[in-house]
Formats: sequence, structure tokens, C-alpha cells
Amino acid sequence: MAMRKVDAWFLGLDLGTGSCKTVVVDEQGRVLGFGSSEYANDNTPGKWQEQDPNVVLSSVVDAARNAIENAGELPGNCAGASIGGALHSLMAVDADGRPLTGLMTWADARATPQAKALSQTADASRLYQETGCPMHGMYPLYKIRWLKDERPETFQKAARFISAKEFVFSRLTGQYVVDYSVAAGSGLLNIHHLNWNPQSLDLAGIKPVQLSMLADPKEIVDGIQPELARQIGLSPKTRLVLGSSDAANSTLGAGSVSMHQATCMVGTSAALRIITSQPILDPKGRSWCYAIDRQHWLVGGSMNNGGIALSWLRDCLNSISQDSPSAQPLSFTELLEMASCIPLGAQGLICLPFFAGERSPNWNLDSRAVFFGLGLEHDARHIARAVLEGTAFRLMSLKEILDEISGSVTEIRASGGFTHSNFWLQMVADAFNCELVVPSWGETSSLGAALWALQATGALQNLDAIHACVPVKDRLQPGTAEAQAYRLLFQFYCDLYQTVSLSFHALAELKTNFGEGIQ
Ligand code: ADP
Repeated sequence: MAMRKVDAWFLGLDLGTGSCKTVVVDEQGRVLGFGSSEYANDNTPGKWQEQDPNVVLSSVVDAARNAIENAGELPGNCAGASIGGALHSLMAVDADGRPLTGLMTWADARATPQAKALSQTADASRLYQETGCPMHGMYPLYKIRWLKDERPETFQKAARFISAKEFVFSRLTGQYVVDYSVAAGSGLLNIHHLNWNPQSLDLAGIKPVQLSMLADPKEIVDGIQPELARQIGLSPKTRLVLGSSDAANSTLGAGSVSMHQATCMVGTSAALRIITSQPILDPKGRSWCYAIDRQHWLVGGSMNNGGIALSWLRDCLNSISQDSPSAQPLSFTELLEMASCIPLGAQGLICLPFFAGERSPNWNLDSRAVFFGLGLEHDARHIARAVLEGTAFRLMSLKEILDEISGSVTEIRASGGFTHSNFWLQMVADAFNCELVVPSWGETSSLGAALWALQATGALQNLDAIHACVPVKDRLQPGTAEAQAYRLLFQFYCDLYQTVSLSFHALAELKTNFGEGIQ
């Protein structure tokens, strides 16, 4: 990182799905240093996706220390640090704060039956109106319900139910506090009144004392537990700013602050999000709405299948050649190069990319991936292109919904791992038929976290001032012919989805009936 004369520095941490990423920024939000540390998932075969909370905590320490070291010489102590947390994670702790479970991530699907059962009751629509959350097993409300149904002893012992961020925050400060955004991502918050929603708590079978104290993202807690502060390389007097969720931070860190500016994030998962000045709910229940603070809400749609679809293909191809001593594993860059050799439309190969199930807009808990039109003329390059185009079609569905419920999205900003690839960015700009603005700093979630530290300590006036302080490195224009072609293919993709959607349920039933044989 380039050395600059700085007066004050801040730390922004992002607890992502697969790693903790951290930035050091100056008082104008310019990045001075970056550090990251991956944590291994302990994925029990089947539908469980868990992390070890203590591994997550050590990654926080490593990533923060690396970022500070990489920033070079810094004046004095950190003026404020803030942590962004991945949405929808859940763990139970006992009265002494000891973990009783692993950290179930957003991808953990074990609570699907609990969500399905509730979606068929009269409570479903009211719950969406109150919490902004569609019925889906990723929400901690259903994960708690799963613990109650399937692990009653653990459920009885649980003094608290918390997210990854609350676990880390409690270890750093000794306090159980949660911001509105992470709280809203649990399905347990009333997004209008910003309190724990009694109906959700009843359904989960818990009491408010089992949840953390709700607070504004600009809430400051003075002081960090000395041993952890020493390991990171901070003073124990460092001010910790509560901050927000990774979803809100990724949107803010890309510079989007209004309902006409969307941020398109494609990382492991993917999402299209806007920030609004009031809660906006979809009469058809296709989008979600999470509170950020008393003046701002995050509205959007999320997809399970962003980069994870590409990872699936990369791993498949690498598994074929893993026994050959000379074979080099295929990288994302090589896979994207392969896809770029194939013309738009993948020569008639269409992919419904539900490798990891589906969230917005249909929230179909039984969706599975489909390749349609596969022929002898197709090879791995066509499959790569079709997978990428399938995720782009899904993003087009999300944009249609946001246009419908919020007026119109006129600017889209890019964030997440796909910003490494111009080919992928251009495909998304063509599919949206809208200018795609690429911020200079691609790791927008960690930058967004740091921007809360700037706001809370007065270095940045308010949330609306963020737009002006996020520099842009590129603006990709959609191609006219490409946009028209994607529109035609999108219609075909939507029809195909309708045609096979009933078969998703039929397959799920078949799997249940066959048991182990067809798992
Ligand atoms: P996370 O969502 O876990 O925080 P990222 O935002 O880093 O992760 O996104 C990870 C995804 O980014 C990968 O699944 C992959 O699809 C994509 N990606 C990673 N590296 C590259 C690259 N060099 N070129 C293009 N895409 C990449």
C-alpha cells in the first residue's frame, strides 16, 4: 500500500462467509492497508453448514493484525474500529457465554422443514409484514425452532442465541449488543418499531432476555479486552463502533446511499440491494427489507448462487484431474477465460443455477440446478458460460422487482469477488442493460464497516455523505445488441423456470421417499 501522511486511522472488519477481511483507512475513507484470514467450514454432509466460532474469532485477530501491519507506519492509536457481520448466522451459548453449538451460516439448510411448515400457516403474511423476512430456513428464527424441535436439551441449556458478530463483539467487549441490521436478518426484529418482534419470539419459543441488546450502528463501546487488543496490535482503549451487517456495509462501501442506486454484489452468494428512507415491502413477498438505523432500511433480494456456482464447476473439473501428477488446478481466472471463448447464449445451453437452492425471488426451498439444451456440441467452456449467464438472469429478476417496488434503479454499483473479472462485469452490465459502476476498492464490505467508525467518531458527517467519499475506477456501458439478446434469453429462462418448478417439489418428495438411496 502507498504511504500517505495521515492524521487519524480507522479499522473496518468484515466477517464474511468464508473469511474475515479487514481494512485500515484514513479520516477520508482512503484505504491504507488490507488483511484477510480464511476460516474453514465444518460442513457435515447433508444440509449443515457450520463454522467454529473460535476459529472465526482467531481469523478476526489475524486479519486485523495483518491489515495494520500492511498499512505501514500509522500515527497514534486507532481512532475507531467497527465490525460488519454476515447475516443469518446463529449459535447458542450457555449462561457463561460458552458455545453450545457451532455457528450455523446462512447456507445452513437444516431448518427448511420449520420454514416450510410456517409458510403454510395464516401467520406467514403478517410475519413478513412485521419482520421484512420471507419464510426461509436460513433465518435464525427457524434455526432456533429447529434446535427446539430436534435438540431440546441444547435448546433448554441455551442462555442466549447470537450471531457470529455478536459472538466476536462479546469476546472483544464483554457485552451482548446487536445492531438493527444483523438483528433484522434473524427474522426476530420488528423492522417498523425496531424492537424484538413478540410474534417471532413466540414462534421461536424464546424470551427477549435470550437475545442481545439492540443498539444504533453508531453506538460506541470504549475499550477492548486487553489480551485480544494486544494480539491485534491495538490499544485496549480503542473505541469499538457497533456498525452494521455485511449486506448494509457492502452497499455503503460501494457508495450507494439512495433508493435509485443499487449495489450488485456477487461473491460466494449474490444480491442486489438499495438503501431506502422507509421500510419497503413487496406485496408479492419476493424481496426482503432489513432496518439499518432509525432513518434507513436495506431492501433487496439475495441469491444463494453467486460465485459458489462457479466454485462448484471449478471443483468438478479439478476433481477429474486431481490424480494426475502434472495437472495444475484450474483457477477462477482460467475458468472465466474458458467461458469468454464461447459466444453469448452458450450456444443454446441454459442453466438454472440453483446448486445451493434458491432465495429471492421465489424462495422455493426445493429448487435444484438445471442444465437445459445440453448437446454433443457443448463442452466445459459452454457449461462455464451457461453457469455465469444463469446467475446473471437471476440478477435480472432481482432488478425487475426493485424497479417495481422502489420506482426505478438508475445506477448499479458492483462489489464482491466478480469485480476481479472484466468479462463477468461486462456480462452483468449487458444483462442489466444499465451502466455498471465499479468502485476503486472492491472489498466494499470491510470499507463499509470502516465508514461506520468514521461516522460515529465525527470524521464523516452522516450516511448520506458516503456517496461522495467512495472513488470509482470504472464505468461499464451495456452493449445494445448484447442487452437485447439477454432480454430474449431471460424470457426463455423465466419460462423454463415455470415449466420445471413443480418438478422441484416432486424431486424433493422423491428424495424423502427414497431416503439414503437418492440423497
Ligand atoms: P465472499 O462472498 O465469501 O466474501 P468474495 O467476495 O471474495 O467472497 O467472492 C468469492 C467469489 O469471487 C468466488 O466464488 C469467485 O466466483 C469469485 N472470484 C474470486 N476470485 C476471482 C477472480 N480472480 N476472478 C473472477 N472471479 C473471482
